[in-house]
Amino acid sequence: NPVFLLSATDVAHFPSEAKTYGAPEVAFLGRSNVGKSSLINSLLGSREAKVSSTPGRTRAINFFALHEGSGEKMKVRPTLIFADLPGYGYAKISKSISAEWPSFIEPYLAERETLALCICLVDTNIPPQENDTQLITYFKQTQRPYLVVGTKADKLSNNQLAKSVAALKKVHEVEEILPVSAKTDAGTKALWAKMMEVAE
Ligand code: GDP
Repeated sequence: NPVFLLSATDVAHFPSEAKTYGAPEVAFLGRSNVGKSSLINSLLGSREAKVSSTPGRTRAINFFALHEGSGEKMKVRPTLIFADLPGYGYAKISKSISAEWPSFIEPYLAERETLALCICLVDTNIPPQENDTQLITYFKQTQRPYLVVGTKADKLSNNQLAKSVAALKKVHEVEEILPVSAKTDAGTKALWAKMMEVAE
């Protein structure tokens, strides 16, 4: 059962342990239009927690708490926290991804103690993007656990998808890319399994 916690636009707003019970956090990152809101909505499967992709709300980090059980049986301590980060890639020519990001993103990624997994979304329908490579390189350098997920897999034939995933792996220099579709729910079970690995 997802509960919307808050929208943070400053380091001081990040939810404290009093709100999260120190539950492990999964962050979602990707270029604008990659399908991040659609994927999060399909993972949450709830109307209450609908993530909008309107710029206002997406220039913040939106936090959601996922609990086991429902009603009176809902566990107090969340199983996982979802952190929906602002999309990047608005600026056509930007030297670095961090140049266009609000100032609270870098401290979040560098210092958030409960951040257990960073999900880097890449679009399987477009060629590998330089800013995605930059983000993935950042996670390699900082040794943050990350997973690259390929979105909109339903738009391609199996053969096209295999080719796209191979190209993305090669350019981003990653061993694994998990293809998913928010439209058909393909791959979302596998993604849940990866996320549950980090939840104790
Ligand atoms: P965001 O900007 O990353 O939050 O992207 P959105 O979730 O708003 O999606 C951007 C566009 O891609 C919208 O037109 C969606 O309908 C479309 N889209 C998102 N996910 C999928 C998917 O899994 N399959 C298909 N076919 N289209 C998708």
